[in-house]
Amino acid sequence: MKRGHHRRTFLTWSAASSLAWMSGRVSPGADRRPLSERPDVPDHRLVTIEGSARERGRKYGKQFAGPIHDFFRERIEGDFVPNQTRRNRLLRYAAACIGPIRRLSVEWLEELEGMAEGSGLRLEEQILLTLHEELWHRGEIPSLPHCTALALGPPDTADGHTYVAQSWDWYRTLCGKSQMLKWKRPDGPSAICYSYPGLRAGAGVNSAGIALCWTSVLDKTVKGPAVGVPTYILIAHLLAQPSLAAVREEAKRAKQAGWFTFVLGDRQGNLLNIEASPERIVFQSGKGTLARVYYGTPEMTGTPAGKAVELHPQCRRMLELVESARSQGKIDRQQIERFYSDHATRWICKHFNTLDVMIYDATEGVAHVTRGPGCLARYRSFALDEGRALKAD
Ligand SMILES: [Zn+2]
Repeated sequence: MKRGHHRRTFLTWSAASSLAWMSGRVSPGADRRPLSERPDVPDHRLVTIEGSARERGRKYGKQFAGPIHDFFRERIEGDFVPNQTRRNRLLRYAAACIGPIRRLSVEWLEELEGMAEGSGLRLEEQILLTLHEELWHRGEIPSLPHCTALALGPPDTADGHTYVAQSWDWYRTLCGKSQMLKWKRPDGPSAICYSYPGLRAGAGVNSAGIALCWTSVLDKTVKGPAVGVPTYILIAHLLAQPSLAAVREEAKRAKQAGWFTFVLGDRQGNLLNIEASPERIVFQSGKGTLARVYYGTPEMTGTPAGKAVELHPQCRRMLELVESARSQGKIDRQQIERFYSDHATRWICKHFNTLDVMIYDATEGVAHVTRGPGCLARYRSFALDEGRALKAD
C-alpha cells in the first residue's frame, strides 16, 4: 500500500546522530563476558494497572515517574537530542503524531495524557518517549543483531498450545529495567505486557488469547519515520483486540510511524506476521511455525516471485532448532526455553545483550519471562486469570 509522500521524511537525520553508535554508548552484537559480571537484578514481578484510560495513565505515570524521567533523559535526550534546535524539532514531531494516535483510538491519547499528568513530563515528551523505536531507526542504522521472534502452534507443538516468544536484545545499560505490567481495561481485553519506562507495552498476551512479539528491522529504503502511530502505541492497541482478524483490520487502519516485524498467534493456533515501514504494511498468515529476525516476507525483503527469502542467520538458526525438535514431536515450553539458550552460533543468546526472554502461552493466557539472557533461564510466570494456580518452575 502506497501512502502519501508527505508522511515521509518529517525527520531526516544528520550524520552526527549515528556517531552515538561509534562512540560506544550503544553496544551492538553479542557480549560473552562471564555472566557472573552481570549486575544482580531482582526477578520480574507483576504490577497491575486498572481503571479508565486516563486513570490508568495517571497511576502508571505516578508510580513509575522516576524511571520514566531517567529513560527520557538517557535514552531520548542522551541519544537523540544534541541541541535545542533538534529538541524543538523532535517535540514538534511528537505533537504531530497526536492526530494519528487520536484517530486510531482516543483511549491511547487519554492514557498518554494521564501518564504525562502522573509523571510530570509534557504530553509531547511522553509521546516522544513512545517514539523511541522510530528515533532509533532514523535511517542510518548500523548492522545490529537484534531480537529473535517466534510463534509456534498446532500441529507443530506437542501439547497443542500456541506460544509466541522473543528475546529482547537491546542496550545492556537497560538490564534489569523491564517491568511486567497487567493492564486491566474496563471494556475489552486486558493484557500482560513486557515494558520499559514509558513504553507501556513492548510485547504481551491478552485475555482474548492473542500474543504479540516482534523484532526491529533493517530497512534503509525509507529515510525517516513518518507522522503516525508510534510502534509502542500500536502494540498496545493490537493487544486490546478481541481477535486476529481485528488485529489485521486495526493494523491496516493505523498509520504506522515506523518499521517493525510483528509475530502474533492466537489460542486457536492461527499465526500472523505483520511487517511494516512508514510507507508499507504487509500481512502473512499461517499455522505451525513462524520465526522472524527483521523482515521475512517476499514483499518487504524485495524477493522476486518463485525465489526463497534469504533469512537472517539468527532466524535460520532458530528454524533449524525448531525443525529438529518438531521432527521428534518435542515442542513445548521447556523446549522453547532451550531454543533461547542456544550458543551454537553467535546469534540467539547474546548474554549481556539479551536483556530478557519471554514466552507467552496464548492458549493458557500466561506470560513466562526470564530476568536475564535465555541461558540463565530465570523464568517467572504470570497469569491473566489471577485465580489460576501456576506450577512452580
Ligand atoms: Zn547465554
